[in-house]
Amino acid sequence: MLLEGKSVVVTGGNSGIGKGIVLAMAKEGASVVIDYVAHEDATDRLIAEVEQAGGRAVGVEADITRADDLHRMMRTAVDSFGRLDVLVNNAGMETRQSLLDTTEEDYEKVMSVNMKSAFFASQAAAKQFIEQGGGGLILNISSVHEEWPMPGNIAYCVSKGGMRMLTRTAGVELGPHGVRMVNIAPGAVDTPINASTTSNKDLLGKLQDAIPLRKLADPSDIADVAVFLASGRAAYMTSTTVTVDGGISQGSVGL
Ligand code: NAP
Repeated sequence: MLLEGKSVVVTGGNSGIGKGIVLAMAKEGASVVIDYVAHEDATDRLIAEVEQAGGRAVGVEADITRADDLHRMMRTAVDSFGRLDVLVNNAGMETRQSLLDTTEEDYEKVMSVNMKSAFFASQAAAKQFIEQGGGGLILNISSVHEEWPMPGNIAYCVSKGGMRMLTRTAGVELGPHGVRMVNIAPGAVDTPINASTTSNKDLLGKLQDAIPLRKLADPSDIADVAVFLASGRAAYMTSTTVTVDGGISQGSVGL
């Protein structure tokens, strides 16, 4: 198994991509802390699924916009599994508004859930990695929109652009401690965040046509890459982004 003995925290681990990562990492031998903010039932069902497959997982209710909650999340990993090896900054949200429509409140909410949380969770995890010794990995689920504009979803793009530079800069700062930091930039993944598109036949068809591989990703497509990045096979990768998008960000009308 690729992740035997590793202790992992996944923010927003009870849904979508986070859930896929929890299942894939547990299957490879990792013990997982599943963070959630609202849906305890979904977390309990996921823990049961992991345990039925012979894995180990615990849930923690933590609002990632609060530094105190982030520290409690890391402590849960250490108290439950003895150490922390991997933090996955996965939880995120979007409001689908343009520059002209975005209120100060909406902007602050998106930046807080997507960006501030990743900043301070990374800080808390890095301190734990350094204290316990032996390095560690911070894996951010950013988006192709860390560098590819999505008009009508500007605060989200700004937050993911910030995550890109967080990984570039903190990866350089933490490298001498043996701590790696890598982003995964998914394209369109079939999760609840995209429900308004996937439940509309016309919009879904338009989206599929824009993807060279002609289908949305399944969360497991992203989770497989996360497992690789958390394994010893990616030991020399840091301060960079791996794009997993079916080619969507390279698409062109060819005119
Ligand atoms: P999702 O199914 O909507 O899941 C979002 C998760 O974030 C949920 O587990 C939710 O917890 C959690 N969350 C939200 N606010 C939180 C808070 N304040 N504290 C703690 N947890 C919080 O979304 P997803 O599609 O899997 O997205 C996961 C990540 O992938 C996001 O960062 C997203 O930007 C990124 N991404 C997604 C796509 C895509 O096409 N789906 C593409 C590129 C990037 P509760 O269930 O408890 O509310």
